[in-house]
Amino acid sequence: MIIVLKPNSTPEQIDHIVETIHAMGLKTDVSRGIKRTIIGVIGEEDLLRSAPLRAIPGVEEVVPILKPFKLASREYQPEDSVIDVGCGVKVGGGSLAMIAGPCAVEGREILLEIARHVKAGGANILRGGAFKPRTSPYSFQGLGEEGLKILRDVGDEMEMPVVTEVMDPRQVALVDRYTDIFQIGARNMQNFNLLAEVGQTKRPVLLKRGMSATVIDLLMSAEYIMAEGNKQVMLCERGIKSFDSSTRNLLDLSIVPNAKGLSHLPIIVDPSHATGRPDLIPAMALAAVAAGADGIHIEVHTCPEKALSDGPQALLPDQYRAVVDQMRQVAGLFQKTIPIAHAN
Ligand code: PEP
Ligand code: MN
Repeated sequence: MIIVLKPNSTPEQIDHIVETIHAMGLKTDVSRGIKRTIIGVIGEEDLLRSAPLRAIPGVEEVVPILKPFKLASREYQPEDSVIDVGCGVKVGGGSLAMIAGPCAVEGREILLEIARHVKAGGANILRGGAFKPRTSPYSFQGLGEEGLKILRDVGDEMEMPVVTEVMDPRQVALVDRYTDIFQIGARNMQNFNLLAEVGQTKRPVLLKRGMSATVIDLLMSAEYIMAEGNKQVMLCERGIKSFDSSTRNLLDLSIVPNAKGLSHLPIIVDPSHATGRPDLIPAMALAAVAAGADGIHIEVHTCPEKALSDGPQALLPDQYRAVVDQMRQVAGLFQKTIPIAHAN
């Protein structure tokens, strides 16, 4: 539910409305616009149905939000969210986030080498997993805190914001010390305790779509984060399960305009995990830009055959540079830009 206040409502009236709603056991989200203030009511709205909110001084209108997600909805916020992820990089609002790097942080030298290549190729956010969600408990699980330190160090040296996965609510405080952006992986999209935990931080979150999650499921998970106070959520399509084993997953590009119709949150596309195939990644990356994605997430490695995870889907640095050049052209057709990073 949104409570729209009268243009001349006073701070005392706003406080009174907020207190009234809190007294009913509901949370509020006050957004003070230039023209007027609106108050989002978060929680079990049924509690409010019979309350005469319109009668409270300062209230102009009470608008129910019919979608199950509230803070994430376009009804709540008509304009696109733009998320500042650090080092001057903004996600959403016309400039594309180019997230690239290896699947896992494997060591300082190799990460620095890959980071130099991807930045020169056009990347503006560096990725690398320190905690890896592997299907087998016997596969490489990531370097843990050592990996986080390396990622932070290389990100600082390259002046690039970094993104890394957090898999467990107990890791949130640790990962928060090193990263600019939390990644919630597909397998954890509905780990509600984890969502609530990152929701209590002030860090942007890259929320990946679960492999069998609907767009509504994804937006409900975003809502879990936002309901805790953290509005800086970026959605990420990374493919869903399909019957066709010729690709790793099935890239659902329709989710880009679909999610944008429903929500103001930016949406990134990850053709690496969606296809699992370097020969398909460039075409899907270009299509994602044309579909309106706010960023593209691609895994890159200088020696894919030696990579400790997801080597078979990694692009080589030259291939990455080539696809970013092509993406720039497609972005230009839609008056969007891929910012040119300064050299290090
Ligand atoms: C990853 O980004 O390396 C990853 C494990 O992604 P996903 O959660 O989409 O499988
Ligand atoms: Mn990976």
